[in-house]
Amino acid sequence: MQRELNFSGPSPILYLVATPIGNLSEWSPRAIETVKDADYVACEDTRHSGELLSRFNIDKQLISCHEHNEEQAGEYIVSLLKDGKKVCYMSDAGYPAISDPGSRLVKRCLENGIKVSTISGPNAALNALASSGLDSTHFYFHGFLPPKSNERKKELEQLSGKGETIIFYEAPHRIEATLKEVYSVLGNRQACLARELTKTHEEFIRGDLESLSKLDSSTLRGEMVLIVAGFTGGKEVSEEDIRLALKDALKGGLKGKEAISEVCDRLDVKKNRVYEIYLKEFRS
Ligand code: SAM
Repeated sequence: MQRELNFSGPSPILYLVATPIGNLSEWSPRAIETVKDADYVACEDTRHSGELLSRFNIDKQLISCHEHNEEQAGEYIVSLLKDGKKVCYMSDAGYPAISDPGSRLVKRCLENGIKVSTISGPNAALNALASSGLDSTHFYFHGFLPPKSNERKKELEQLSGKGETIIFYEAPHRIEATLKEVYSVLGNRQACLARELTKTHEEFIRGDLESLSKLDSSTLRGEMVLIVAGFTGGKEVSEEDIRLALKDALKGGLKGKEAISEVCDRLDVKKNRVYEIYLKEFRS
């Protein structure tokens, strides 16, 4: 075991700097100071981070450290830190190492006796969860589902019994398929699709998965996070489920009261809920 306070003691320190997820005014004074104070800024994409730095009139030597070169770049960054240079690391948006590169760099630094500290900032998952209206006492962050449909289904099946609220990241070109698959595997749960967080067109679409899966995908542009309620012990029954069950019961020859009671038993739902739908849909 090794123990040393982060901001005192002889060992070098790598700063992970969270960056804005849209709204530049969310970049904290401490983050800006840390970057200004660094000798080198290592980053996921030098062009992207170069633009961010220039918006803040910061000119620094950038080091590219992304998914595909994290090992080699990590070695170089460790050597700079050991040499007494100040280095920080940032990804394109939000927290490094959260669905972004950074965790292998952190591991390498720790293995080399280099301390690590994170400069806080925005994170898409937590922004979305906090405003979703879904239970945030216990939650599970899943990040991206795999791109291939059969692998996505497999992962979703493994998540289906989880009681915690689930957080997914998704790209706009896959959101339509993902919403349909999440609905088909997890059943009809409450959910929230949070789009363009912190930006001018920020939007929270709250509803059940059945209705979210029918959204016109041309209206689902930009970056998004999907929050889905955890498993509550049984499949949630939608209004449409009740309507179809009533239709079947009536078609099968049952009269009003009998049909309602049959549907209540079959779907395990409250009588007044079925009665209301019966009145609205079937009583002429
Ligand atoms: N490291 C980032 C973080 O801490 O949130 C996440 C990076 S991950 C590569 C990018 C994904 O995060 C996007 O596909 C989207 O799911 C989510 N995301 C990032 N910015 C967002 C925003 N402004 N609004 C909604 N989702 C966002």
